[in-house]
Amino acid sequence: MSFNQPLGGNEMPRFAGPATFMRLPSAEVPDGIDVGFVGIPVDAGASNRPGARYGPRGIRTESVMIRPYHMASRAAPFDSLQCADLGDVPVNTYHLPKTIAIIEAFFSRILASGCRTLAMGGDHVVTLPVLRAYAKHYGAGRLGVVHVDAHADVNDDMFGEKETHGTWMRRAIEEKLVDPKRVVQIGLRATGYAADDFDWSRRQGARVVPAEECWNRSLSPLMEEVRAQLGAGPVYISFDIDGLDPAYAPGTGTPEFAGLTGIQGYEIVRGCHGLDIVGGDLVEVAPVYDASGNTAMLGANLLYEMLCVFPGVQRRTG
Ligand code: MN
Ligand code: MN
Repeated sequence: MSFNQPLGGNEMPRFAGPATFMRLPSAEVPDGIDVGFVGIPVDAGASNRPGARYGPRGIRTESVMIRPYHMASRAAPFDSLQCADLGDVPVNTYHLPKTIAIIEAFFSRILASGCRTLAMGGDHVVTLPVLRAYAKHYGAGRLGVVHVDAHADVNDDMFGEKETHGTWMRRAIEEKLVDPKRVVQIGLRATGYAADDFDWSRRQGARVVPAEECWNRSLSPLMEEVRAQLGAGPVYISFDIDGLDPAYAPGTGTPEFAGLTGIQGYEIVRGCHGLDIVGGDLVEVAPVYDASGNTAMLGANLLYEMLCVFPGVQRRTG
């Protein structure tokens, strides 16, 4: 069996070639693909700065430098999994509720074919329909979630609306898409509407790790605890780039200071190795606030890191 490989930098200059994630082959249909990269160009769920609709394009552009092998872990994801860029979800940019239904249908079709997904947001509202599709596929209330974010995203509503980038996790728990006892939220911080804003998640059984508990330390020991908490069973990674400090990830819609470092972001994703990772997303990259491209580049690398912790990825020895 031959596996799709990203187009190499010695075959075509890195600044040229297909505009897919890591310059992987694109696929019209998910059949025969193990992991598909999907863009979800939405920012109608965002409450402050717009621009995450350009996230998928920005992430793909900044993914060109990523080479196929993971040096630290010796993971060889493209030797183990058939990967492709499945393109963008054809959202209705005039109508968020319709967009949410379109996203769910798009992901349901992918999952039904046996393909799993790594999604490029888009603001964080996109995770809700993706989780609806995953919950249908894996069973209600079974999914665990490793959720990195500055925000808990558990508001009951925003401006009266139930489906936004600040309410998706509350809906996911209420709709029993996820098992709240297998949810961990890392990097939460800054200011809230009430002093007990983060306690709603805790009352549902989730583990909340505020940014202050992460300052000035390695997160590898935390991830050991997270692996023990989540145990067996499917796990989804939802990584809001604003979980990282704006020093590392300025290109985002609702930045908060005193966040995680880029290295801590890597430690979290690498620390998911051993869990039954079934999918993930990297959301809230808004390239217009990102003069260097570093936010999108970091996002692209975090998606690659997620791919490397999928079950079944071989790790080359020697
Ligand atoms: Mn978020
Ligand atoms: Mn956030």
